Amino acid sequence: MFDLALVHAGELVTCAGGSGTAEEGLGIVEDGALLVSGGRIVWTGTTRQLRQKSTGKVERTVDARGHLVTPGLVDPHTHAIFAGSREDELERKASGESYISILAGGGGILRTVRETRASTTTELVGASRARLDQLMMNGVTTMEVKTGYGLDLAGESHILAAIRRLKEESAVELIPTFLGLHAKPPGFRDVGGYVDFVTRKVLPAVARRRDRPVFSDSFCEEGVFTASECSRYLRASKDLGFRLKIHADEFAESGGAALAAEVGCVSADHLGRSSATGIGAMAKKGVTAVLLPGTSLYSSIPYADARGIMAAGCRVALGTDLSPNSWVESPQFVMSLACTGMKMTPAQALLGFTKHAAEAVARDDLGALAIGTQADFVVHRVPSYRFLPYRVGGSYVNAVFKRGKQIYGSGEN
Ligand SMILES: [Zn+2]
Repeated sequence: MFDLALVHAGELVTCAGGSGTAEEGLGIVEDGALLVSGGRIVWTGTTRQLRQKSTGKVERTVDARGHLVTPGLVDPHTHAIFAGSREDELERKASGESYISILAGGGGILRTVRETRASTTTELVGASRARLDQLMMNGVTTMEVKTGYGLDLAGESHILAAIRRLKEESAVELIPTFLGLHAKPPGFRDVGGYVDFVTRKVLPAVARRRDRPVFSDSFCEEGVFTASECSRYLRASKDLGFRLKIHADEFAESGGAALAAEVGCVSADHLGRSSATGIGAMAKKGVTAVLLPGTSLYSSIPYADARGIMAAGCRVALGTDLSPNSWVESPQFVMSLACTGMKMTPAQALLGFTKHAAEAVARDDLGALAIGTQADFVVHRVPSYRFLPYRVGGSYVNAVFKRGKQIYGSGEN
């Protein structure tokens, strides 16, 4: 007795292939099929093999009618929980202002902090829910969500309360991250004093919450927080049982990649300017690189050296970095930038939003369709995975399944 069978996937991309090339890693099954029981994948193979199997009763059979089927996409880096917007910053950046100068003038993150602090939980949940829904319609079944627009205990608790509600209400699975060091709020004269406040007061209080986040994260960047400030904060986070992430070297080489290796981060993200030594250290320690080309585009800064990072031996994941700075809700668009701007192959880009993204959030039950993984998958109205980064700007997702249940799309597939 099975809950669901899917048949006739033109390409069933399992992302559970061998460890050779990215293309081999995709583990493609033509005319593929899968079986789901108890929200998990219990079998994959060809439709013909399934026909020869005695399955007994199957609750529901989905005919993918030759379409592409992939694992549910995992977005490993978002700041999707915020109030307000910053559409004027596009004009300011077009007239020559930089992300860092806008932030230094009280705009950027600090503006979002004011707007998020001023929102009610219902307003924050409503605004964020619309973005979660949009990602889901684009095939995302799991996403990491960061706090970081509160900057004090009350503000961060407000965001964590919204995340708790969204976890109950949204079909997209959320993996929360406490972003303790995002920006120094006004009211603290020096950065060191703020790092001290967050590390000694806010972080332990967040760690005691019943809904404590899985990860702790910090923004290691010239003009924001130094590597030694992030090191202190991340080590304290580790002592309290958090897994670690870091925003590293986005605009300038700030020692972030090396620090990620030193303190044992699960992922280091951005990496636009990281040194070869830093990347080498990450590869040695198995830190996953999360690249965010949509943000590079918005800030008009160079893309990360994806090929160099892969050649050094790091796994590369991709994320939208959905935030009020770079309001990107389309993984397909990010895959396209990864292929056009960073010269990743379509296979590497898809692994970036599936298997490697799951590694970036430390979840081996996601990002692949193999026995025992969560039955999260997407039916795309295109014949091959190569169309995902190629055909950008439309909506080609036919149906989205989470733990074997359809959460988006028509009943017909
Ligand atoms: Zn970020």
